Amino acid sequence: MSLTSVSGVNIIGAGLAGSLLAILLAKRGFHVTVYERRPDPRLGPTDSGRSINLALAARGIRGLDLAGVRERVMPLAIPMRGRMVHEHDGTAALQMYGVRPEEIIYSVSRADLNRVLIEAAAALPGVEFEFGQLCLGLAHEKSVLELRDEVTGRIHHTAAQPTVATDGAGSAVRDSLLAREVSMVREAPLDHDYKELTIPAVAGKHVMDPNALHIWPRGGFMLIALPNRDGTFTATLFLARTGVNSFEQLRSPGDVEAFFAREFPSARALMPDLSREFFEHPQGSLGTVYTRGWHLNGDVLLLGDAAHAIVPFHGQGMNCAFEDCAELMRLMDEHHGWHGLFEAFEHERRPNTDAIAQMALENYQEMRESVLDPEYRRKKKEAEELEKKDPNFIPRYSMVMFHPEIAYREALSRSPAAG
Ligand SMILES: Cc1cc2nc3c(=O)[nH]c(=O)nc-3n(C[C@H](O)[C@H](O)[C@H](O)COP(=O)(O)OP(=O)(O)OC[C@H]3O[C@@H](n4cnc5c(N)ncnc54)[C@H](O)[C@@H]3O)c2cc1C
Repeated sequence: MSLTSVSGVNIIGAGLAGSLLAILLAKRGFHVTVYERRPDPRLGPTDSGRSINLALAARGIRGLDLAGVRERVMPLAIPMRGRMVHEHDGTAALQMYGVRPEEIIYSVSRADLNRVLIEAAAALPGVEFEFGQLCLGLAHEKSVLELRDEVTGRIHHTAAQPTVATDGAGSAVRDSLLAREVSMVREAPLDHDYKELTIPAVAGKHVMDPNALHIWPRGGFMLIALPNRDGTFTATLFLARTGVNSFEQLRSPGDVEAFFAREFPSARALMPDLSREFFEHPQGSLGTVYTRGWHLNGDVLLLGDAAHAIVPFHGQGMNCAFEDCAELMRLMDEHHGWHGLFEAFEHERRPNTDAIAQMALENYQEMRESVLDPEYRRKKKEAEELEKKDPNFIPRYSMVMFHPEIAYREALSRSPAAG
């Protein structure tokens, strides 16, 4: 089936990748129908399901540029120029992310970003959003999508050809491809979970430097905090599920208070609602999803987390999903049929998404432990000096965050060990 003979494309999931992709496809003249299980976020706040705020970096910004929405998103974003490392004794020091002024990353609210992308897509001719529609996967006939209206419970069907599934890490469409033995999936859960907490504003203002990503690294675990525009920070505790220093041990408000007072006294002092939030907020799980076989002929393609969910420690899941969208558009210029396009997309992207999956896992070790090590700090300083003198020397972190022209797999092969 040729690209030009098809005018309509389905997208499953109006999350970050799905809503950006809707804009890009509509700009190419396709009629796009986006099916999303949640209610319309433009009508009021909905449960975003994942993290509250995200780090946006160059690869993601490139995708926003391509869609023409950068100017709408950037006013929502707070620049973070480095990581503020908080030691046990209460001292804190900033480690710059880059060596050039433009080498910064941005904290952005997931809900705000998603809403802006949905608004921009919905304003384009040919884009339709169908909210409250849960995709159950592919029906028995291989190219038919099965959907359930979340209000009425009615089950209905629509022809898949072609569908891009951006239904996230727990993708129902991926499950269908797995059941048909089109995909092979390996899920590698992390034995650490996460919980989001709040550092409130005081008199409407941030209580720490808002232009940094704050980290309290403690070896086997860590707390981080990203700024929000309302003066608050969203803090995230990453901690083992079981064993010494684990979620399992934090059973009562007393346990939580004692743990924070012992491990994160400087953060604890800024969190008046700690115990209440700790027991009200969900404990999220993390992991990597490795998939082979991202497409069913030219009918269905997995993209974003649906194809390759990763752990969040390089702040790249969304950035990578936006890069997926941009790459799909680039490949559209080279391919005339959907099958060839989807095949080329997996061929091009999988080595790169495997590479960022590995680097994201390695960065957990760096964030929670290495940043405290004087030897690591000395090497980082040396690398910064070298980078200033030799433009061919770029540390891995910078390649990933600030150099979208360097593919993830190249970033990994040029720096086999993190640095
Ligand atoms: C704690 C945490 C922190 C993170 N921090 C960062 C960060 O700093 N930077 C970064 O780049 N990435 C980060 N990520 C990763 C990022 O959240 C994901 O990579 C990104 O959301 C992927 O976008 P997506 O569109 O593929 O999936 P999602 O954003 O998850 O969107 C999926 C959409 O599909 C919908 N959906 C799901 N199932 C169905 C169904 N069956 N039918 C219909 N609709 C469905 C969902 O409701 C949702 O709207 C983080 C992730 C976590 C968990």
